[in-house]
Amino acid sequence: MEQTMELTTDQFIRDFEQTFNEQQQTLLQNATPTELFLALAHTIRQYYTPMWLERNESLSARQEKIAYYFSIEFLPGRMLETNLLNLGILDTVKEGFTQLGLDFTAVKNAEHDMALGNGGLGRLAAAFMDSLATTGYAGFGNGLRYKYGLFKQRIVDGYQVELPDAWFGSLGNVWETRKDHDAVNVRFFGNVYMADAGEGKLKPVYSNAQVLRAVPYDVPQLGYKNGVVNNLRLWDVEIPEEYELNYPTIADRRRVEDITAVLYPDDSTEEGKKLRLMQEYFMTSAGLQTIVKSYLKMGLPLEKIYEKVSVHINDTHPAVAPAEFMRILIDDYGMEWDAAWNATTKVMSYTNHTILSEALEKWSTGLFSFVLPRVFQIIVEIDNRYMAQMGAQGADYARVENTRIVRNGQVHMAHLAIIGGHSVNGVAQIHTELLKEDTLRDFYALTPEKFNNKTNGIVQRRWTQIAAPVLSQTIDKWIGFEWRNDIHALRALNDVVDNPRAQNDFWEVKQLAKKRLADYIEETTGVHVSTDAIFDVQVKRLHAYKRQLLNVMHIIKLYWDIKDNPEGDFTPRVFIFGAKAAPGYHFAKSIIKVINELANLINNDPEIGDKLKVVFLENYRVSLAELIIPAANVSEQISLASKEASGTSNMKFMMTGAVTMATLDGANIEIRDEVGEENIVIFGMTKDEVYHHYETHDYNARYLYDTDPVLHRVINTFVDGTIPRCQSEGSEIFDALVTYNDEYFLLEDFQSYVAAQARVSALYRDRERWMHMSMMNIANSDKFTSDDTIRQYAEEIWHLSLPHAGRHRAA
Ligand SMILES: *Cc1c(COP(=O)(O)O)cnc(C)c1O
Repeated sequence: MEQTMELTTDQFIRDFEQTFNEQQQTLLQNATPTELFLALAHTIRQYYTPMWLERNESLSARQEKIAYYFSIEFLPGRMLETNLLNLGILDTVKEGFTQLGLDFTAVKNAEHDMALGNGGLGRLAAAFMDSLATTGYAGFGNGLRYKYGLFKQRIVDGYQVELPDAWFGSLGNVWETRKDHDAVNVRFFGNVYMADAGEGKLKPVYSNAQVLRAVPYDVPQLGYKNGVVNNLRLWDVEIPEEYELNYPTIADRRRVEDITAVLYPDDSTEEGKKLRLMQEYFMTSAGLQTIVKSYLKMGLPLEKIYEKVSVHINDTHPAVAPAEFMRILIDDYGMEWDAAWNATTKVMSYTNHTILSEALEKWSTGLFSFVLPRVFQIIVEIDNRYMAQMGAQGADYARVENTRIVRNGQVHMAHLAIIGGHSVNGVAQIHTELLKEDTLRDFYALTPEKFNNKTNGIVQRRWTQIAAPVLSQTIDKWIGFEWRNDIHALRALNDVVDNPRAQNDFWEVKQLAKKRLADYIEETTGVHVSTDAIFDVQVKRLHAYKRQLLNVMHIIKLYWDIKDNPEGDFTPRVFIFGAKAAPGYHFAKSIIKVINELANLINNDPEIGDKLKVVFLENYRVSLAELIIPAANVSEQISLASKEASGTSNMKFMMTGAVTMATLDGANIEIRDEVGEENIVIFGMTKDEVYHHYETHDYNARYLYDTDPVLHRVINTFVDGTIPRCQSEGSEIFDALVTYNDEYFLLEDFQSYVAAQARVSALYRDRERWMHMSMMNIANSDKFTSDDTIRQYAEEIWHLSLPHAGRHRAA
């Protein structure tokens, strides 16, 4: 049921002016956007704080089961507009600002993105926080309060330059609240031995451990118009007072502060191993300790903790959780092993996010046992008992051996998460199938009941109402407002996709969004782009498997087509890229350099003119995505089939009316199923064809290069000096594609990609046909709401019930 705050514009203006006057020693008219932002944020805090307190009280009074979502990344972006929208006062506040003669857009843009994540994985975690609050489920986040979020990207001479992202800077994070009384200690290193505890029992003694203080900062997560406020808890590290003498120098203190200093800028390889392991354990241990403490406050038996608590492990980073939970139950609370194990496996569940083997975390036993000696002992014990139990069940020995946690001198974190929990899910249908038949096939054979799929989703409110307000108004105009509360009502748009006036409206909406982006492009890059062109967009992390390079190869092909035939009849295109490369990912950075130099070449060639433009927008992040995505005509989702677990930008584009250029990978397949074959452009190999190459080792990139003249010319362009100032990068790319046999099969997919792109050009010229496709995408995007995804997690994995939201909801 809808529940919005009662707030008149006059009341808002009074509250805002009062907060501003208390905070800022200046006149409203002279205030900077940042000063105004701070005053506005604090006004909003006053509005939601009573709801937050009430929510916590009602959850504990009702002894409600709570799911805790553990994730090393959360990527919410900006919070101001979301908080206003969810409180139901966005329009009131905008109106108030207008009456005060203040520029709301400037104030909103003064908020720094909260970028405690790399990309899709962190964005999903943030989406789930919003959806948990919106659906009303008691689901709380648990993560790290990094001082520096994902690096800020600048492009200098075509190269990526990384700068630190001091996101809360001197202002602090206006949304958070420090909770000193919930601080706990976390131990690292030292020795552990078993001492006689009397009555024939042993108890572990920890000696010489490093003890650090974990202090939580809580960030409220507001539900959409329902009065619900959930909690995202982010941990920071401090030196406990009683140990201060151990850290006499600033350098000593820095080493401690490092634990929450930076987000690892790479979500697909492991680096800075020891520190990373410490980060993972720090947030996991701190989170689990407070969960047990708050459970015990209810006065219920610890053996039954699974009735009130679920812990979700988002990817392998918090996968130490089952072992740490065992340690807490056994060492700190004296529980017996079997009861502790029963509770642990019922509490824990795990999401796998990738089949890329380099991203499945493993730690050397040497490092692991050095950093976490007691947890390592427990893992060995879990492993031995697992082997014994499987042996007793008569399971295939070789299979069980493959699924051990400690193997070949390494601790396999995914294995710990699966053995120590009751559920493992993939993030799109094809991804879950691949986990079952390939990546985790031995686990699937042994415990098929643990496996399930939960296709990712997006917070539709952010990508429509916030990122695309004019589109949203146009949807209102044609089908009414209901879709804002119930996204499934969007399907009513299916009735108007062929209505010429509706088509015209939605065309104009897209043109406006393109104009807004074109202005930004001109402002930031100096490149003028025409909104008559197709806006063809690929924005996502730069990774070889995502195949930005295939897109580049197509652009080179078009470049030669125009140069060969300058008078030809081309459908103009603007290719727009946004992508950060991990700082240590050399090849990805080379691709960025080549894109930028190719852009220079093309954008400055008068013979090419408006037929072709290439733009690389620096510092891709959530707030930039909100500007770019609604302006896209074409959404590039061209990963090699089997490699992209789900993707979520594909869903954002779909919902805002782009047509997807897609391989049959991740959630692209489910998008096709929703919009129908004729409203998406599919190309390329299937996952079975990809796997066939792996099995037969028959792929020969050089043969394709030698025999296909178009491909030959395109690939030569990387090394023949056509693209200036990127000789070494060009030859690196040439080698990856030809000399090293093209790991991601770009050459094999090239012709089919080019043909699909030609289809897009033809379709775009037929405006009726194009608008039918575009609107079909919007109209059938409701499946991808993260509200529904989270309902499935809550019901099928965590077994939560839907609490009443208290007085706010009862209204
Ligand atoms: C949605 C989103 C992603 C994920 O994009 P994919 O194309 O699914 O990899 C990454 N970064 C940001 C900023 C996003 O908003």
